Amino acid sequence: VVAGAFRFTPLGIILHGSRSGLAGNSTAAEYAGTARYAVNEPGGLGWHCTIGDDRIAVHMSYTAWGWHARGCSSLYLGVEFAQPVEAAAISDGQVRAFCWFFQQAQKQWPTLPMNFPTHAELDGSAAYGVYDGKTDTFSRGSSRTTDLRQRIMATLG
Ligand SMILES: [Zn+2]
Repeated sequence: VVAGAFRFTPLGIILHGSRSGLAGNSTAAEYAGTARYAVNEPGGLGWHCTIGDDRIAVHMSYTAWGWHARGCSSLYLGVEFAQPVEAAAISDGQVRAFCWFFQQAQKQWPTLPMNFPTHAELDGSAAYGVYDGKTDTFSRGSSRTTDLRQRIMATLG
């Protein structure tokens, strides 16, 4: 669901995890379910794409924004990694697909910074507005967040 148009270059891309809570879900099943859910999301939420293994489902243009991180929503692009539960890893194929999305977004926003905060990291910040207790893509302070960003940076070169 589109909420508006960016008024300036986004500050980066917020990393989410889709978190159906279905621990047995494969990445492919979680990807399909999340992408389907994005269409006419009942709560009015919106994000730019859902990310599976070497594939993305694009939900809105790079110039539009949707509600995915409260007050930060109009400041950043937002993506949902198919990730049923926090314990689920983000695969190399998902990292490659994310990097492809970033490169596509750069065509629209040439100065788009390589700034990739997680939902958990922005939760509770002044721009965000309140504290929701989010743990996606990984709980705040987790070394898995550092690892994920390092893999992204390595892929982007
Ligand atoms: Zn999130």
